[in-house]
Amino acid sequence: MSSAGRLLLLLPTTTYRTEAFVEAAGKLGVELVCASERPSTFEALSPDSLLTLDFADLQASAATVADFARRLPIDAVVPVDDQTTVVAAAISQRLGLKANSLPAVSTARDKHAMRRCLAEARVPVPRFRLVNLADDPAVSARQVEYPCVLKPLSLSASRGVIRANDAREFVAAFHRIAAILEVEEGPLPDEARRSLLVEEFIPGAEVALEGLLIGGSLHVLALFDKPDPLDGPFFEETIYVTPSRLPEVVQTRIAAVTRDACSALGLTEGPIHAELRVNARGPFVLEVAARSIGGLCSRTLTFGTGLSLEELILCHALGRPLQSLERERRAAGVMMIPIPRAGRLAAVHGTHDAAAIEHVDEVTITMHPGQEVIPLPEGWQYLGFIFARADAPEAVEQALRRAHARLRFDIE
Ligand code: ADP
Repeated sequence: MSSAGRLLLLLPTTTYRTEAFVEAAGKLGVELVCASERPSTFEALSPDSLLTLDFADLQASAATVADFARRLPIDAVVPVDDQTTVVAAAISQRLGLKANSLPAVSTARDKHAMRRCLAEARVPVPRFRLVNLADDPAVSARQVEYPCVLKPLSLSASRGVIRANDAREFVAAFHRIAAILEVEEGPLPDEARRSLLVEEFIPGAEVALEGLLIGGSLHVLALFDKPDPLDGPFFEETIYVTPSRLPEVVQTRIAAVTRDACSALGLTEGPIHAELRVNARGPFVLEVAARSIGGLCSRTLTFGTGLSLEELILCHALGRPLQSLERERRAAGVMMIPIPRAGRLAAVHGTHDAAAIEHVDEVTITMHPGQEVIPLPEGWQYLGFIFARADAPEAVEQALRRAHARLRFDIE
């Protein structure tokens, strides 16, 4: 069976992406090895398919996988989410697999390093400055222009990203981010625990570009509009709809700027998820991550004769031929259901009504009754996801809003 290839999936403890990747691997008939940070009770029973790695220790992880691969060769290493992109590059390098270089993904994982790299390459990015958490925020607050955005260097899902309109808000945001970093348990580089980034607030429409890099060329898989204004103070992602309704010339410009960003970073292989803001000054890159879209959002995407995004990613990683990178014709979208307030989720009402709305494909509540729900900027989860498809993006957006209006969350 190993003729179909053996794939190592790197699964962070907090990810929504496991199921989609495992399902894709099953469809492609590859042998799967899953690595996570917590030892699984099943590991002893399935030593050929489960591995425990300390993702923060790149060398030790690479050595463990290299040992494993001497017994059972590994053909591709796929990080499913932000937290494992760097260790994936270290392992791929050790195994001699074609993948993004370690410096490229490390730069993309560090918002300050990414800003510096892109600014040097003249890719449009917000003006930025690094602020040390040990310094007096009142002093930094006098040195920046407003409005600005404060953010941690290496978290994702908009966690800890806060807009400040004046010095008082700056100081409050500074302390709030410091508190988030203090309790953050995931692997973070020292620099990311010591400092935060302050950026010029870029007004305008926001888009997300989902792409696949093959031998250094960027193929745009989908461009999503985010029709809900993201003006802060926190930046909750809600609706994503593709295809974009922006004029063709603007979309071309967005793709060109993203391409420049990937080449400046040195990213060459595999999925990228980029976030950009567009205004009269053109597109600005907010981030390029060496991973695919987060949450369950990839369910909006189908390619060629029905391939999922994860199947495309795995085929590419395994060096298999890709039939088509063309997304289905219909418009599609998702709403990441935001958490309105902190508390304990008691009950969710209206899911059947919501799912019955025209053009809605699916309503999935991912949080469980009894679960503690934490909104932004501290939390990173969503209550669930609503998916819709229609002939036009307007109809998709409207269906998502209507379905959301039918839902009621009892939070105690
Ligand atoms: P994360 O990687 O955690 O998602 P980002 O840096 O991408 O963090 O920021 C999350 C969101 O915050 C963005 O999608 C955007 O809506 C908003 N944002 C971040 N930086 C800026 C900025 N400089 N100007 C305007 N909005 C911003």
